[in-house]
Amino acid sequence: MRFLREFRDPQAAEALMRRIRKVADSLGDISFMEVCGTHTMSIYRYGIRHLLPPNIRILSGPGCPVCVTPNAFLDRSIALARLPDITIATFGDMMRVPGSTSSLERERARGCDIRVVYSPIDALRIAAQEQHRRLVFLGVGFETTAPGLAATLLDAQRTEVKNFSVLSAAKVIPPAMQALLKDGPLQLSGFLCPGHVSTVIGSRPYEPLVNEHGIPCVIAGFEPLDILYGILLLLEQVSEHRAEVEIAYRRAVRPEGNPKAKSVLEEVFIECDAQWRGIGRIEGSGLALPSTLEAHDAFFIDVKVEPTREVPGCICGLVLSGQRTPLECGLFAKECTPETPQGACMVSTEGTCAAAYQYGWIEGE
Ligand code: SF4
Repeated sequence: MRFLREFRDPQAAEALMRRIRKVADSLGDISFMEVCGTHTMSIYRYGIRHLLPPNIRILSGPGCPVCVTPNAFLDRSIALARLPDITIATFGDMMRVPGSTSSLERERARGCDIRVVYSPIDALRIAAQEQHRRLVFLGVGFETTAPGLAATLLDAQRTEVKNFSVLSAAKVIPPAMQALLKDGPLQLSGFLCPGHVSTVIGSRPYEPLVNEHGIPCVIAGFEPLDILYGILLLLEQVSEHRAEVEIAYRRAVRPEGNPKAKSVLEEVFIECDAQWRGIGRIEGSGLALPSTLEAHDAFFIDVKVEPTREVPGCICGLVLSGQRTPLECGLFAKECTPETPQGACMVSTEGTCAAAYQYGWIEGE
């Protein structure tokens, strides 16, 4: 608790706010974007948007891996779950995400074999114990969880658990940030870069954003003081007409990242284009299994997938690309609540709509 108190100290927060207000006074309207589900939650939870001067906006971007996973992936997962000899293993967040016409939760209620696991290793264990069935693990995640998935695939190969497969929707964040700057309609003045992802990739993958787009990038942690400090560093860069990658989360992030985690990612995955909900297809933003792991690649399982459709009225795509807030969705807190989610952003514990419902709605955000 000592370390948590240190990063939640009200006096230190007020001192940071004084500095933020001073720098913000000299600037016009500024929009920064965070691209991390844990930042989204913390910003709503601690009411950070309300603390900031009115000319400083923090937008939430595509930082929740479950939310950015498109319906087509869910539909394929559901189609696989309906095959008689397949067991699906997934993180719990995926269960209630609505696909085009069903969800994994509904399919489980109808009798499909769908298990919730805490890690890919748990899924591999199930596969090893139940070799008469093919186990498909839904590989949804960013650079933070992808190394665990990569290590599990190596383990499956080494131990010859041939009935273990992965349907990979693993993604990397920097290309999505690039895509938002290149094609997005937003005028962003800086990125609050994700803390967890950066513990793996380090600070260098953000350098092209700075060099090609001249946009300040600050890697921040998740406690209130971490986030306020990150915002202060971004504001200072803007006011001094600088654009750099700065690490405001030095207790966890090094410029070179985590070499072991990066090396297992490189050893196992190949880069591919990937589809992101709300952004579309982004070059080089996905992690696919190479041909040497084809036997473990669930994309090779022949299955008929229904045509994809989006939920009418759900604007998750616009929320994930920072173009709308959850409150601008006509379904928010009416048809769509955490009990009756209409879109991925209301299901995931890192989803913007879920965070707004839990913390922001009451405050009128
Ligand atoms: Fe989609 Fe619900 Fe969010 Fe609206 S409130 S964008 S329906 S998840």
